[in-house]
Amino acid sequence: MNVNVKEWLSRLIAFDTTSRLSNLQLIEAIAGYLSELGITHQLIYNSERSKANLYARIGPVTAGGVMLSGHTDVVPAQGQVWQMPPFQLTEQQGRYYGRGTADMKGFIACVLAALPDFLTALHVPLHLAFSYDEEVGCLGVRSLIDAIHDQPCKPALCIVGEPTGMRPVFGHKGKAAMRCHVRGHACHSAYAPEGVNAVEYAARLISHMCTLAETLKQHQDSRFSPPFSTLHTGVICGGNALNIVPAECSFDFELRHLPDSSPQATLDAITGFARQQLIPQMKQTEETCDIRFTRLSEYPGLCTDVESVAARQIMAWSGVSDAGTVPYGTEGGLFHEAGIPTLVCGPGNMDQGHKPDEYVAIDQLDQCSAMLQNLCRWMQSSD
Ligand SMILES: [Zn+2]
Repeated sequence: MNVNVKEWLSRLIAFDTTSRLSNLQLIEAIAGYLSELGITHQLIYNSERSKANLYARIGPVTAGGVMLSGHTDVVPAQGQVWQMPPFQLTEQQGRYYGRGTADMKGFIACVLAALPDFLTALHVPLHLAFSYDEEVGCLGVRSLIDAIHDQPCKPALCIVGEPTGMRPVFGHKGKAAMRCHVRGHACHSAYAPEGVNAVEYAARLISHMCTLAETLKQHQDSRFSPPFSTLHTGVICGGNALNIVPAECSFDFELRHLPDSSPQATLDAITGFARQQLIPQMKQTEETCDIRFTRLSEYPGLCTDVESVAARQIMAWSGVSDAGTVPYGTEGGLFHEAGIPTLVCGPGNMDQGHKPDEYVAIDQLDQCSAMLQNLCRWMQSSD
């Protein structure tokens, strides 16, 4: 059975796999196709069995080979003003429009359409890794990586097909997303000194984090943009009325760190300031006051040696002889951490991802298909 890229992309777009929803219909469609092609595969479900990763291997049962990886979830189209229908493929002026065309069902469509070519005489195995819940903190792929660890043969390298304009990418920053909850003590604002103002303590902590963010600029790596780790507060919520000293305030912040720097040192500096400076002062007024931190999500940075065999091979298949970095994160850091050298290279541009009227240029998909053909030829000739 041969299904072309457009047909696959059209099918994949039609499944609304926004991260809060199930991806099972999409995964089952891919699994059915793999079964028809005689490709063994495994579904790795979440605990509610509402979502699944798919792992497949084609070719000899030997160590090494190449893994192609992508996430099946997309960001919401809800709340955005689209001119095109988000869950139906629209072709216009050399582009395919629809949610996930760039990020990153375009890559998955190219891989699925190319699979029949990989069914003959591979000397090394091809691995497929399709995950869920990437867009909400690279959550799903962790159980997929565990499953790959249990395999008798692990891939020697991985291509994550996030949109890079088909330029190989060796690195990106890591991220730690955190929530801070400040519990103060309420009272009438006329007696403000008798309360503990949770909003004001949150403000002092955020102000301290702004100072920390400045110090992060001292360590720079010009390959990344911006060339230093960043720390930012994105959401804050607290207080009920102006004439009440607020008892509660919470805020979310994130640290996007250079791959070679530890996020823990910065997080320790933040929690240490709260523990040593702020909480003792709060407790002088009211013992129940506290500041707590919860980790919302995290993933490691990626920094693959561009001189490595894996990087050189991926650059050769893509036809682009240099590799760069991207400002956004991918599952690549987790694969790399698991000992699988990884580069990111996929069709489309992240400028078009996450936006209304998301699209991928058809010539980007053609370039991706050409890379997969080069990979296929190498896998048939390599020994
Ligand atoms: Zn993505």
